[in-house]
Order: sequence, then structure tokens, then C-alpha cells
Amino acid sequence: MKGLVFVMSGPSGAGKTTILKEILARNDNLVFSVSYTTRKIRPGEIDGKDYFFVSEETFKSLIEGKELLEWAKVHGNYYGTSKEFVGSCTDSGRDVLLDVDIQGAISIMKSLEDAIYIFIAPPSYKELVRRLTSRGTENSESLKVRLEDAKWELEQVKHFEYIVINNNLKQSVSQFEAVITAERLRVDRIIRAKGEKFLFEESVE
Ligand code: 5GP
Repeated sequence: MKGLVFVMSGPSGAGKTTILKEILARNDNLVFSVSYTTRKIRPGEIDGKDYFFVSEETFKSLIEGKELLEWAKVHGNYYGTSKEFVGSCTDSGRDVLLDVDIQGAISIMKSLEDAIYIFIAPPSYKELVRRLTSRGTENSESLKVRLEDAKWELEQVKHFEYIVINNNLKQSVSQFEAVITAERLRVDRIIRAKGEKFLFEESVE
């Protein structure tokens, strides 16, 4: 069976990266989709693991070559998902986890109907302001942009199928895993891939 695509999105500061790292450490069949970005590498990040850090010129050639499943300009930098990376994972039966901004998620909804869309929300806008400010990864201009963008982003929750309100890491991870488990158990998907008689033809794990 083809792998599933889980699209995780939410405003910057909702805690997506922390949840994602925990989920990936606990789920062997789930692969992180490494995106391309033109943003500067942060201390501790690894090229090819966290992102493929590229120049604007390279990014534009990826767009022109139709190599991106989606792309967006987020807080002043370009980010995009590799079509080839996601396709090769799902074709080999592995599930893929995408961490994209809201524009990216909405754009994928148009092309990948079968993907699963999960919104990671902060407990409140006030808490988001507190987290982003204390994280200290952004300069004041970038912080201002992210906080302004977050207002529109929170309103887009209506387009998603699932929400995880990130109040407590352990609880958020277990809620996210509950979604993964439930989606892996869906009969309609198994039937689409294997036909209605799948229970008679082979053993199903
Ligand atoms: P950061 O710069 O903090 O790593 O990420 C900023 C935002 O870019 C986050 O909301 C993250 O989800 C989003 N992002 C990361 N990769 C992609 C991508 O491939 N496509 C889109 N549209 N957004 C991405």
C-alpha cells in the first residue's frame, strides 16, 4: 500500500517542531519531508536534515522545473516541499510527515486530497506571543512579522480536519499519534488500494 501523507501546520510558535521531533523519534515508518528554504541556517541546524538551505536563485529554478509540491513565501523567506522526496517515500510504502505553513497546507489540499491535515494551535494568541518572544530565535522585525501573520493563520483552522491544541507536549504527541493510528486503520483506504476482498487474499497487519 502507498504511504500516507500527514500535513502538520500552524502558526510559528505553536510548537510544531517540538511535537514533530517527538513523533518522528517514536514512529519508525514515518519519514520527515525535508523542505527547501532560502532562510539563513540557525545555530544547531543541519543542512539536508532540517532543511535543504538554498539560494533564491536555486529556489526559483526548482519552481520553474516544477520540482515542488507546493511553495510559499513565509515571513520573508521561501519554503517548498520536494515532490520527488514525498513521492518516493509514499511509493515505497512509508508515511511522510510535512511541516508546512498554512498557505502551503491550503495549497496542498488542492492537489493531495488524500493527505491528512492537522492544525497545531497554541492555547491562545497571548500564549503564542509569549512563546515566540521568549524563544529568542527572531530579531524584533522578524518577530513582529510572525505575530502579525499568526492572526490570519489562526483563522484558517476551519480548513483542517484535526486540531491539536499544544498545551502540554506529552498530551499533544499522544493526540497526534491517535490521528496517525486512526488514519492507518481506515477501511476505505485499504479497500481503495487492495479491493474489497482484501481480507480473503492476504494477511493484513
Ligand atoms: P522556520 O523558519 O521557523 O523553520 O519555519 C517557518 C515556517 O515555515 C513554519 O511555519 C514552517 O511550518 C514553514 N515551512 C517549513 N517548510 C515549509 C515548506 O516546505 N513549505 C511551506 N509552505 N512552509 C514550510
